[in-house]
Amino acid sequence: MKPIDPPPSRPRLPRCPCCGAAGSSTFLFTIPYHVIWTLLAEEWQAIFSVDVIRRHTPAEVASLLLCRECGLQFFDPPSAGDEDFYRELGGSPLYYSPWKWEFGWVRERLSRGMDVLDVGCGRGDFLAHIESVVRRAAGLEQNTDAAAAAAARGLEVTAGGLAEYAERNVESFDAVCAFHVVEHLTDVVPFLRHLSRCLRPGGQVFLSVPNRARYYRKPVEPLDCPPHHLSRWEPVQLRRLGDLVGLRVLEISIQPVDVNMIREEIPAGIRRRLETIPAAGGFLGRWSTRILARTLFRKSLRSWYERSGIFDRMGFQGANVAVRYAKAESRRGGERGK
Ligand SMILES: [Zn+2]
Repeated sequence: MKPIDPPPSRPRLPRCPCCGAAGSSTFLFTIPYHVIWTLLAEEWQAIFSVDVIRRHTPAEVASLLLCRECGLQFFDPPSAGDEDFYRELGGSPLYYSPWKWEFGWVRERLSRGMDVLDVGCGRGDFLAHIESVVRRAAGLEQNTDAAAAAAARGLEVTAGGLAEYAERNVESFDAVCAFHVVEHLTDVVPFLRHLSRCLRPGGQVFLSVPNRARYYRKPVEPLDCPPHHLSRWEPVQLRRLGDLVGLRVLEISIQPVDVNMIREEIPAGIRRRLETIPAAGGFLGRWSTRILARTLFRKSLRSWYERSGIFDRMGFQGANVAVRYAKAESRRGGERGK
């Protein structure tokens, strides 16, 4: 009798962090890890130890894939930064920014009687911003240094992970926020289920992510690569995510485009294109930039451009996108996604 062959060991199929589809992605391109580490040092002045670099370099290159099911772009291998990586990155004088556009967007949507949880609250900047307009502003933070810094400001902060927190705080909040968290995760749906678990029926979830369709992007942005970001999002995947966990999308908002960026980049882009024309290109490029700077892009027009939102209406998108979801009013509806 023919001996039974052992089952062939199956190659690991890349799995989409949003919809979970395995093996249904298209290859886009690769970014060498040594380029990512070099740019983190050059552009962000981040100093990493040899050990952190070694542990967070799982391959020669990070491959960017496109999920054919939901359209998310994600990296393979899915190698996320650990606490040491974030501690060393946090030592960069440029990394930490206390203000985000979506803080204001969410605050406008909160009201006095609400209990609000900010997951991944960092040093508590958002909590400090909403403290006076809600009943309770609570934070959860995995990084113990950041949690201690938030507590030192007199804010209510718990240091720890979400799964355990959600277990102890079922249906305790009217709104739960997570700013710039999901793009760091290998699996987003369980995270969102934990967030939803902390919500009372009818409560709201606010998420924000960097907008992949933003107007200005450099060819390689090291913070938009692993181990920092594992995925790249557009509004369509935020809708899909809501469907997957049984949360209804109430609204999605894109940050207004930065008019200063447009003022610098449109003339520079035209100049770069003109400069490729032999002989007269350099001259044309210089003059067209000067003329544009003095007419269409002069400083005095900036506030009018911002007020009118003309560039946004022309399809130029800002750096971030935020979504507001609602949990179903009845328990039965809320559990549907489980
Ligand atoms: Zn997907």
